[in-house]
Amino acid sequence: FHQAGPVLQCTGIERRFGGLVAVTGVDLSIYRGEIFGLVGPNGSGKTTLTNAITGFYPPNKGTIKLDGKDITGTAPHKVAGLGVARTFQNLALFNGMSVLDNILLGRHIHMRPGVIRTALYWWLARPDEMRNREIVEEVIEFLQLESVRHELVDGIPIGMKKRVELARALVAEPHLLILDEPMAGMNQEEKEYMARFILDARAERGVSVLLIEHSMDVITGICDRVLALNYGEMIATGKPREVVKDPRVIEAYIGV
Ligand code: ADP
Repeated sequence: FHQAGPVLQCTGIERRFGGLVAVTGVDLSIYRGEIFGLVGPNGSGKTTLTNAITGFYPPNKGTIKLDGKDITGTAPHKVAGLGVARTFQNLALFNGMSVLDNILLGRHIHMRPGVIRTALYWWLARPDEMRNREIVEEVIEFLQLESVRHELVDGIPIGMKKRVELARALVAEPHLLILDEPMAGMNQEEKEYMARFILDARAERGVSVLLIEHSMDVITGICDRVLALNYGEMIATGKPREVVKDPRVIEAYIGV
């Protein structure tokens, strides 16, 4: 148990796609229980950085440590197995399946979609089903999804869908949770609910959060620290209230 050091430490991260430098020279550390914001205009490298961390696009340069252990270039399913769960900007729920089944899959989030249905039924028969059921019930209660548990995800409102995605990430019992625009497309009330759930997840589960978010209100409202990217480079980092006032950050947002 590495209480003192950072949960996540990225040093000198660079990721290129052919000739395009999507991310370069990025350093960041996230400590236990921190909610860490990642901001920047579209195309600034936020998703690429999270993909480097989760192993989808390993960095060309730099190192990524999780709880002090070097995980640079580790395959996505292994990174997931080490306690990193994520949600996606565009919902990655399985239509045609119930809310409950989508959440249950969070215990096997790293599996490929093609094998996932069969695996679900196989896995439900396993001896550790008790713990699976227990954590799933806990999370359904925590995120107030009881009333829609047997509905198909296709039919529920966007705010609920985002909550199902969060539930699916939480049932993996992560210590690092990466949320890619969890409030996109939500109305004000849904956003406030989501902000509350993120804060409670930190408080009740001690989870650390890397939060990609465009709304400066959300950033200043719930983040402990923030990193701003522009054209793949760090332009400001520190306390939210300072970062959102930083002239380089303002210019980056106005300049697009
Ligand atoms: P953000 O998440 O901040 O909107 P991205 O990380 O998606 O930014 O993109 C950063 C840059 O990398 C953009 O120029 C984007 O076009 C490019 N990029 C991202 N993913 C790929 C990819 N798989 N192949 C080629 N270019 C990519």
